[in-house]
This record gives sequence, C-alpha cells and structure tokens, in this order.
Amino acid sequence: EPLLHAQDLHKSFGPTPALAGASLTVAAGELVAVMGPSGSGKSTLLHCLAGITRPDQGAITYQGRSLTTSTDSELSALRRTHFGFLFQFGQLVPELSCLENVALPLRLNGTRRKAAEARAAEWLERLEVADTAAKRPGEISGGQGQRVGAARALITGPRAVFADEPTGALDSLNGERVMKLLTRAARESGAAVVLVTHDVRVAAYADREIVVRDGRTRDLATTR
Ligand code: ADP
Ligand code: ADP
Repeated sequence: EPLLHAQDLHKSFGPTPALAGASLTVAAGELVAVMGPSGSGKSTLLHCLAGITRPDQGAITYQGRSLTTSTDSELSALRRTHFGFLFQFGQLVPELSCLENVALPLRLNGTRRKAAEARAAEWLERLEVADTAAKRPGEISGGQGQRVGAARALITGPRAVFADEPTGALDSLNGERVMKLLTRAARESGAAVVLVTHDVRVAAYADREIVVRDGRTRDLATTR
C-alpha cells in the first residue's frame, strides 16, 4: 500500500484551474521530484498532498486514510505529528531564535522546552549551523536559513516530508547538504519525500520524477 496517494485532483483559485487532473502515488522510503514550468500547479499539488490546501475534486489518502474527508483539526494534528515541511519562503518565524525555530515542532507536540531545545541544538550542530542558535532568521545567510529550515522539518522524524524548492540555488555545498539530508530521511527513516524543484541537479537525487503541465501530472521516468 502506498503511503500517499492522490487521484485526479482538481483545484481552481480563479477562472484558470491550478490543478486539472493531477495524480501521484508515493511509497514510504521514496523520494519523488515534482517538476514542470512555473505556474503549472506544482506547489498546489504539494499543498494538497500535505493537507494544507483542499482540492475541489479528487481523493487523497495517507496510510489509507482519507485526507479529503478529514476535518481541519484532524489535518492540522496529522501535519504536526506525521509531516515535515521545508519551504523556500516564510519558513522560519522571524521573532524566534534559530534554536527556538528548530525546537518549535517538538514544542507544538508537547515536548518540554529543555528537551526540545537540546534536540534542536543537536540538529543545528549536525547541519553545521550551531553558531546560528541564538540568532534570529534575519541575521543569518540564505544558505544557513535553508539548513535551519531543514533541521526544523526533520526534527520530529516525520513519515512524509514536503519540500518546495528546498535548496534555492544549488550552487553550493549547502544544496548538496540539504539534498543528502532529505535522501537520508527517505533511505534510513523510510520517510516519503515529495520535492518540488526546477533544478535537474536536485531532481537527480530523486527515485522518480513527475512532470506537471497545466495542472496535469505525467509520470516521466524512473531515474533509479
Ligand atoms: P507552480 O508551483 O508550478 O509554480 P502553483 O501551484 O503555485 O504553480 O500555481 C498554479 C496556478 O494557481 C497559478 O496560476 C497560480 O497563480 C495559481 N494559484 C496558486 N495558489 C494560489 C492562491 N493561493 N490563490 C490564487 N491563485 C493561486
Ligand atoms: P551561504 O552559502 O550559507 O548562503 P553566504 O556566502 O551567503 O553563505 O555567506 C557567508 C557568510 O556570511 C555566512 O556564513 C554568514 O555568516 C554571513 N552572511 C551572509 N549573508 C548574511 C546576512 N544577510 N546577514 C548576516 N550574515 C550574513
């Protein structure tokens, strides 16, 4: 049984549909890259799979359970306990220190501050951004922010990770680090990773590539 399954999703925000028949199945331990032109519906598909956006039509199941018929509070509990998010923009809370940002998902799940911050410190160290702990997101570089965001996405040991352009420019060691981390989450923890990217070098890390065009998905190739 697939961990995540979306069937024939439709979603409109205005006259032109953002999704017009998108389907996707992701197994535990699998890293799937979602590619396609700007405005084709990639982010909308990701947000539907992650229980952030409700499709107008179509069905989504996670571990065989329907997301489309779940209540808002069931969805938010599921996001908090089973999912990890790594988004390019607006991912870190500007008023919190980087340490507090990484600890936040654990705090929201009821972990006590001291234990949550100890785990967060370990993650910052693992990603070689321990020196950002006391800083606010506005005081660190873009690359450091991506690593802090990755720590925050993975600290709860999520069963599914949703990433939207998680590496920005894959010029650096930084992009490689983030991709290795996501690959490890899939390989070692058996998480399903769904990753939206423009960058073919990022997609090269994936087990499978999906192309979205005009709100429709096409299974392109098995790369590995
Ligand atoms: P992609 O991620 O491939 O760039 P998106 O899923 O972001 O595409 O967008 C698909 C279409 O839906 C675009 O035309 C976009 O403007 C529109 N859209 C996406 N989200 C919203 C929203 N929250 N409100 C209005 N329009 C949206
Ligand atoms: P990265 O590849 O991590 O984005 P940069 O080359 O942008 O790194 O920056 C190198 C160093 O300069 C960073 O480690 C950081 O300490 C500092 N730095 C970069 N941008 C900023 C910024 N906007 N605010 C504060 N420090 C910054």
